[in-house]
Amino acid sequence: MARDRSERRADEVTGEFDLIDRIRARARGRPDVILGIGDDAALLQVPAGKQLAVTMDALNAGVHFPAETGAADIGWKALAVNLSDLAAMGAQPAWCTLSLSLPLAEEAWIDAFLDGFLELAQRHEVALVGGDTTRGPLSVCVTAHGFVDAGKALRRDGAEPGDDLWVSGTLGDAAGALAQRRVGRAIDPALRSRLDRPFPRLPLGLSLVGFASAAIDVSDGLLADAGHLCARSGVGAEIDVAALPSSAALRAAFDADALRTLQATGGDDYELCFSAPPQARAAVEAASDRTGTPVTRIGRIVEGDGVRVLLADGSEWRPANAGYEHFG
Ligand code: ADP
Ligand code: MG
Repeated sequence: MARDRSERRADEVTGEFDLIDRIRARARGRPDVILGIGDDAALLQVPAGKQLAVTMDALNAGVHFPAETGAADIGWKALAVNLSDLAAMGAQPAWCTLSLSLPLAEEAWIDAFLDGFLELAQRHEVALVGGDTTRGPLSVCVTAHGFVDAGKALRRDGAEPGDDLWVSGTLGDAAGALAQRRVGRAIDPALRSRLDRPFPRLPLGLSLVGFASAAIDVSDGLLADAGHLCARSGVGAEIDVAALPSSAALRAAFDADALRTLQATGGDDYELCFSAPPQARAAVEAASDRTGTPVTRIGRIVEGDGVRVLLADGSEWRPANAGYEHFG
């Protein structure tokens, strides 16, 4: 968009174009990036036989991350939440674009932001191929692009009654950090790092292709996201609350009731929730071993609709309508 280079506020350390130069200088290419940052659009080569999976997620200050979050953590998380979506599709990530809205063009901020963003990008060989830079309230929007073999993506709509329901890793940690923050308690560092630096479950997602019947990443809370999977598949689910995996840090910080609520409804987990037929149990375990990603069988897909959470005696558990005192 048209913006004069000389249009720069006194408190601005640098201008939009200098910022883009800084980003461009650090962005690494890949052979399939024919033209990256610097032209009007990027030129990218999709491999023969592959479909392109495309996702976009924005993070707004104070909504998707606490206002005090460090720039490097914001950079990491902005990419991680998008790579998590690709993981849930069983896609191999390749490229991303970055739209930055910044209140101030500060070199130190952008350098730290890129430290986090590019660290994760390089881990997964994702090339930053373009974006947009504007002035406004702090907001970061990323698109991520990945490849899937034609027709093989893990979708939300393939779950069948009788399938097992699985989840990776542990649930509730990020929400636990937010709950501690809300009541002004010291935030457990292990929980805080789950909030600030989620690890997209890309190796697991890729290795589930071929036998998982449906998948979704857990961003809004297990019950909400399992509900989305069920709705798209036209099925229901039963979840055994006692089976939900939790970290030692979360168990140490919360009582049993708060723990359940955080695990079932917390959000920001970026774990994978997926269904697979019971015959695929050994294959799921093998994928877990191969990728070093713990997985837990948490319930089953049933006919009907909605997600019911069951206690050990078979009665239904409903999350407490917990105010934050509940997490104190
Ligand atoms: P245009 O006016 O054509 O939109 P811009 O000046 O916005 O061009 O961007 C110039 C180049 O820099 C483009 O290749 C664009 O994709 C890239 N770019 C701009 N902002 C970012 C950013 N935040 N991250 C990565 N690339 C960016
Ligand atoms: Mg532009």
